[in-house]
Amino acid sequence: MHSVGTTYTRAIQQVGGTPLIIPPVTQCDDWPGLLAHLDGLLLSGGEDIDPNHYGQELEPWTGRVDEERDYAELGLLRAWLPLGKPLLAICRGHQVVNVALGGTLLQDITTRFPDALDHAYTPARPMERDVHTVDLVDGSRLARVLGGTHFAVNSAHHQAVMEPGHGVSIVARAPDGIIEATEIAEHPFCISVQWHPEAMLKTSDTMRPLFAAFIDAAR
Ligand code: MN
Repeated sequence: MHSVGTTYTRAIQQVGGTPLIIPPVTQCDDWPGLLAHLDGLLLSGGEDIDPNHYGQELEPWTGRVDEERDYAELGLLRAWLPLGKPLLAICRGHQVVNVALGGTLLQDITTRFPDALDHAYTPARPMERDVHTVDLVDGSRLARVLGGTHFAVNSAHHQAVMEPGHGVSIVARAPDGIIEATEIAEHPFCISVQWHPEAMLKTSDTMRPLFAAFIDAAR
């Protein structure tokens, strides 16, 4: 079964876009023909990326990996980015963008930084609940789109961007220093966030401008 949360597709619909779901089965060679028909790409959340893709050994605390999805999304991104069409990347998607551009990930936040905040998902903390704040770089695309530099966000990740990839700028951090958002400055519209803005839409309009800006750019 391939599945994607309805929060993603509803977020796109809410701001006037038409969501299409791409199953990660197509081989890399097949991407350009499909991508010509798309106006924007949203990479959704999911499982951990195999650390082999960023030059590290699989450490025991990396969770389940999906080889097919890794290859599909990395291939998809490498075909998509040169087109200059809008990209919004969320959680796993945010990490995939960094890996596609040669960056690395922190395989487990608390193993490496025991004093860090608890960023991981727990059933006691529903996705629409704020978990920590983020501070955005003033003047970043994300700060302009959201109209501010300090926001409360949810958190459902145990990994994070470590070394940014080629052309990747860090534009938000949690209070413990963990990287929470990146952008590609040279790209017309590439915003990448570690939190789940689509889930926040259930209870707040704070993140709605992010989806609206994405669809505006796609249009
Ligand atoms: Mn977090």
